[in-house]
Amino acid sequence: MTDVLDQQHQVLLTPSPLQRVGAFALASLARVSHPDQLTADSFTAAVATMTRHLLATADVAKAADLGGFWLGASYMLWPNSKINPTARGKQSPAQRRELITEWRALPDPAVWPAAPCAYCDRPACKWFGKVDIPLGVSVEHRNTTAPGHEGTPLCYPCVASLWAFPYGASLSGGRAAAIHSWDDAFLAPMTRLAVKRTLAKAQAPPVKTKGDPPWYARELAVLEAVRSYDQRIHCGVELIVLSNSNKEQLLRVQEMGQPIAEWLRSTTARTDRRAGYRTLVAAQASKDASGEAFLAKRAFDDPAAVLHRTTAYLLGRVSAKRVLPAEVSGLAPLVYSYCIEVLNMDEKDVARIKDLAARLAALLGQDSRPGPFGGFMRANAKGGDLYGWFRSQSVQWLLKTRPAGMPRTLLPVEEYRLLFDDERAWSHRRLLVFAVMEALVEAGWQPKGSAEEIEDIADVAESLADEETN
Ligand SMILES: [Zn+2]
Repeated sequence: MTDVLDQQHQVLLTPSPLQRVGAFALASLARVSHPDQLTADSFTAAVATMTRHLLATADVAKAADLGGFWLGASYMLWPNSKINPTARGKQSPAQRRELITEWRALPDPAVWPAAPCAYCDRPACKWFGKVDIPLGVSVEHRNTTAPGHEGTPLCYPCVASLWAFPYGASLSGGRAAAIHSWDDAFLAPMTRLAVKRTLAKAQAPPVKTKGDPPWYARELAVLEAVRSYDQRIHCGVELIVLSNSNKEQLLRVQEMGQPIAEWLRSTTARTDRRAGYRTLVAAQASKDASGEAFLAKRAFDDPAAVLHRTTAYLLGRVSAKRVLPAEVSGLAPLVYSYCIEVLNMDEKDVARIKDLAARLAALLGQDSRPGPFGGFMRANAKGGDLYGWFRSQSVQWLLKTRPAGMPRTLLPVEEYRLLFDDERAWSHRRLLVFAVMEALVEAGWQPKGSAEEIEDIADVAESLADEETN
């Protein structure tokens, strides 16, 4: 029995992301860096701390009052629980305290179900339902629910981890949002920071937030987290958003892949990538969302769009300012590394596209009028005929314009394949547009022509930005 009781005080990491975030939150509440370091005593103390936070709401009339933070959060996290019963208004603070204490206590071993914990397989201490386990999380474990029982068997450390989950999350807008990763070394400091913020928020006077939250604020928080981390990120980073309230049952998990998480981190960690980051961010902005928030959103669901938006933005600048923007050079280390590390382009293919861009820059740079440059850009836009453009230019290249030392073929078969017969063809073309601009900037070329001719490129830029990325 002692062994079994010991187990009910020992936190294990399980395959459940919510439980894992909660386990690290318990570790943070106990001021240790990993759940493995929790002793029975420090675990008990951490659970007691959480219970004390809930007990403090017993003297509060309304959730909006000072000290009502956990009462307010409870409607979203633990609806119809002992902290917020319908009859709460008629209960005395002592009655409220009694119910909360009873809810959070380890059940008497005599009433434990003879069932293994759905998360860790050790003996469960009780059947738990949606009050303690947010919907969607329990769904995964539906098969473990025995006939005649409502709920899921859990051991005490696992259910305590679920209770601790909100400490490791950001609670706002009626939802809990947490960062999760299977990389424990990353998860530990991220959860620690979240716990610190939640504790501070719980103590502060309640603030009424006005208006809608900024677009993609939760995704942006993940981007800031990965960019601030000082070690290599070994796994993808998940954003878990949930609500367990009666009004809305929600569990949404989005994953930022490991390659882009690590790449975003490199934009702070590596000096050669730091310089262009602001331009890359500016390129992602829309009228609704800030550039960095939109970059964060695309990092989750459409990494290729980051490249496409960047080239469209640069072309837009050419049309607005009538010069090739100098930012192109600063962006180069970001764009090439992004293509290789995030979009998974082959390094050799990227080198081929750069060589092709050098030939195109030599070709286009021979004419200071913006027409030929615009013609190439137009061929890349929606409805443009890039292949036709190459056909007409190839003859020109062979017979007239080829500078000494450049190969006779403008578009060799390998390059043709990359641009016209490859699943990443669209991204290769955008990279080519970028590389041509970079090569022209390096050569000191600038368009000299009428304003109209240059402004003409504006619709090309828009078309490059609007186009579907796949
Ligand atoms: Zn368990």
